[in-house]
Amino acid sequence: MTHQIKKESTSEVCEKEDWKTMKKALITGITGQDGAYLSRVLLEKGYKVYGTARDSIALRSKNLKLLGIEGSIELIPTDLLDLSNLIRLLERIKPDEIYNLASQSSVGLSFEQPIGTVEFNIMSTMNLLEAIRILPFKAKFYQASSSEMYGKVNELPVTEKTALHPVSPYAVSKAASHWMTVNYREAYGVFCCCGILFNHESVLRGEHFVTKKIISAAVRIRKGSKEKLKLGNIEIKRDWGLAPEYVKAMWLMLQQDSPDDYVIATGEPHSLREFIELAFSYAGVEWEKHVTIDENLYRPSEIDIIYGNPAKAKAKIGWEYNLPFENLIKQLVEEELKHGSEVNLAER
Ligand code: NDP
Repeated sequence: MTHQIKKESTSEVCEKEDWKTMKKALITGITGQDGAYLSRVLLEKGYKVYGTARDSIALRSKNLKLLGIEGSIELIPTDLLDLSNLIRLLERIKPDEIYNLASQSSVGLSFEQPIGTVEFNIMSTMNLLEAIRILPFKAKFYQASSSEMYGKVNELPVTEKTALHPVSPYAVSKAASHWMTVNYREAYGVFCCCGILFNHESVLRGEHFVTKKIISAAVRIRKGSKEKLKLGNIEIKRDWGLAPEYVKAMWLMLQQDSPDDYVIATGEPHSLREFIELAFSYAGVEWEKHVTIDENLYRPSEIDIIYGNPAKAKAKIGWEYNLPFENLIKQLVEEELKHGSEVNLAER
């Protein structure tokens, strides 16, 4: 399973196809990591892809550019907190499928900006669900739920039935959005699916995430940087997978006869310490010389260990994941060596 960044000639697909008969998908948060990879999957499947961006600067998405698909997507500046703006947008596009990926997605930042995180993440989801409920055509809806919703877990591995006990403002916002989505399915019969994704990474991962900080620091140090990387608790254990594989599950969920929720995970926990050791070792540098632990960076509340059971996704939608953890980290380092500076320095 290799996912080298390749520039697709998706404009050729657009020229060949008749736009009017193509399925239409709208992706919110298209400028993020998952938005870019999902766009590529949908374009390859012959969809016409529309994406919302919060402003005109975000319209110049470096991620879409890196995948070579920015010219094949219609990007639309949209205020997801403005229901009337959304209704007009959906009336114009009439999408068959809506993938709601936009969110303030950093757990760490959500402790600094709890109100903004909760306000945007919940209200943007509610506005989309309301717009779908009100409008006369039927659009299928995917909600980006998160393993963070489980928080203080009472069983491992986590399944779709495990109780939610969120331990951060981000996780609370995702849990509320998750239950709103389930409610619109049960109360109004909207075709809504929640993908409960565990951590997934790629060279397109946002720079404020600890995994990206580790990979890019290891690569910069290999290239001669003398920097030190300050980290918080490195004993936490998470279930990490590869983003291009995870977005395929989003599409699969919306192709089923009936809507449901699915855990998307590898099923294996690994510590952040293991992540660091492997990343620095693949980059050819000694991590102990460059990484320092700063207890000020510990979060006010933290999940010690979490990993998921993807059995339902395998059995019902045919989603499978086979990339070993070591290969994931090797691939992340290799892609960062090749494209990291392009991603990190590209003007947005
Ligand atoms: P990213 O952080 O890479 O992308 C988030 C997207 O949301 C970006 O397009 C961003 O726009 C947009 N966004 C953020 N805040 C706002 C706002 N206030 N107004 C409008 N748009 C906003 O996330 P990922 O692609 O990694 O994740 C996709 C979704 O999946 C997110 O909802 C995330 O919470 C969820 N998720 C991710 C997991 C992961 O491991 N990656 C795990 C589980 C769930 P801009 O580019 O302008 O900042």
